[in-house]
Amino acid sequence: MNQRISFRSLLALCAAVICVLYGVCFPASAEANYTKFTRRETSIFDTEISFIGFASSEEAFERAYAPLIEMLEKYDHIFDAYNAYGDLHNLYYVNRHAAQEPVEIPDELFDLISWCKAQWNAGMRTTNIAMGAVLTIWHEYREAGLADPNNAKLPPMEDLIAASGHTNFDDVILDDENKTVYFSDPLLTLDIGAVAKGWAADAVVPYLYEALPSFLLSLGGNVYAGNAPMDGRTNWAVGVQDPQANALTVAVGGTEILDVVDVHDLTVVTSGDYWRYYMVDGERYHHIIDPDTLMPSRQMLSVTVVCESSALADFLSTTLFVLSYEDGLALVESLNGVEAMWVLPDGSVQASSGMSRFARKIN
Ligand code: ADP
Ligand code: MG
Repeated sequence: MNQRISFRSLLALCAAVICVLYGVCFPASAEANYTKFTRRETSIFDTEISFIGFASSEEAFERAYAPLIEMLEKYDHIFDAYNAYGDLHNLYYVNRHAAQEPVEIPDELFDLISWCKAQWNAGMRTTNIAMGAVLTIWHEYREAGLADPNNAKLPPMEDLIAASGHTNFDDVILDDENKTVYFSDPLLTLDIGAVAKGWAADAVVPYLYEALPSFLLSLGGNVYAGNAPMDGRTNWAVGVQDPQANALTVAVGGTEILDVVDVHDLTVVTSGDYWRYYMVDGERYHHIIDPDTLMPSRQMLSVTVVCESSALADFLSTTLFVLSYEDGLALVESLNGVEAMWVLPDGSVQASSGMSRFARKIN
């Protein structure tokens, strides 16, 4: 629970930074017909959702906003790994029943699992949503360590190795016709945390384009920027958090913001070692696990991805967080319409060849 609170407060800080930046950069609406409205939501996706939209009136904004929240709630329930909702065949249900028999699941979940399996089949195996067995162990030790910091422990490596024998995506059997999922390994479970928010963002974006002339959606820092803001500016300004910033560095004149990314009709997604972590013997152990070492990856402090698809950006931000900079750069350069920015363990910043179009400090 503590972890949830600190995670939320961090996300709230990020959302606030994004909003403050926006306010500083675009103080007044130049287009008198449209007004900017801002809303926050903390009860969905265990994260802070912030939304900015331009609309002709508050009523028009509310008419657009209410269905957005309904849609996000629907995705939240379907993707929830910890709670049941009546007889909904959500992720929680799947992880408990799919090894006994094929489970018919909602299209929303089926499509996400299929897409992740297609990435796996294409050889992109660093982000593996079939790694639930390993990730659950880390989750339990992290929760226990946050609840009782003096007794925080690392999971025993033999437990992690045993669990890693049950993470083969080939054991997730999908039936396209009947929309069922079946686990041929009874100890396998799915953890879709690496892609769920991006997937949900992509699912609501087409609706938002129809509902409002301009919007910015942030699902816990997973940002999608719609048409340019209706105030004469050509882009939304999205702050990328400095992964090394803390209260002390900020107090002595540092800033929470590493860089600002100027975008429209694009998504900006960051994976960082500061989102979710716990401390063991003075060392930070975060939530993105290298499937080879079974330990939190030490390759990066953060990775930010800019592209059109939020699901792809979410998937890639986790992937690039685990890959070396060289391997990650080669991957990004091989993909059309994808740019990335890395913060390495020494604090230095690297970027893909086209990132300078978006990030203010990249030349
Ligand atoms: P966040 O959820 O904080 O935005 P990410 O998108 O990088 O960050 O996703 C991290 C989550 O993904 C973890 O909390 C865990 O549930 C899951 N995860 C961690 N490592 C992996 C991995 N190698 N493959 C697939 N999922 C992972
Ligand atoms: Mg991700």
